Amino acid sequence: MKTMNYQKMYEKINKTIGELTPLKADCGVLCNKACCKGDESIGMRLFPFEETALNKTQNSVGETIVICNGICDRNTRPLACKIFPFFPTIDEKGKIFVELDYRGKLLCPMIDHCDEIIFNNRFLKAIKKVGKILAKDEICRKFLYDNTDEIDTYIKFLK
Ligand code: SF4
Ligand code: SF4
Repeated sequence: MKTMNYQKMYEKINKTIGELTPLKADCGVLCNKACCKGDESIGMRLFPFEETALNKTQNSVGETIVICNGICDRNTRPLACKIFPFFPTIDEKGKIFVELDYRGKLLCPMIDHCDEIIFNNRFLKAIKKVGKILAKDEICRKFLYDNTDEIDTYIKFLK
């Protein structure tokens, strides 16, 4: 069985997202960069084996996280930060969708105002491509399924 080269996979993913962001303008001015003001002790949850493509990693409660102090190099920020407030969800047939990540509803004003916002279509297409790349690997595919379930649960309670 061929072993996945995760470092190469994340290089491809990072190239796919590149400099793309949810809006063509800087959404940080809407909320004073609310998503970068998290608790330093919590950190950012990484995608499976994403630590192979990052420098500063630390293990905490069984998950690999990167400790975030609210300032980082945009190019090397975790994938979760690059694609926020969206997530590549997956259905039972393995089809990838791009959905708002309702786990961030209390944080990101774009989620509440999504009907009034024109999101950057190139960014959404890139996230779909990222989802397809991740879904090729069994461990990453399971991660997508687990997160899709979690987002669906949030939607049931919050929408
Ligand atoms: S919380 Fe939402 S609107 Fe604010 S910087 Fe983060 S992604 Fe942009
Ligand atoms: S890792 Fe960087 S982009 Fe992500 S929340 Fe922290 S400061 Fe913001």
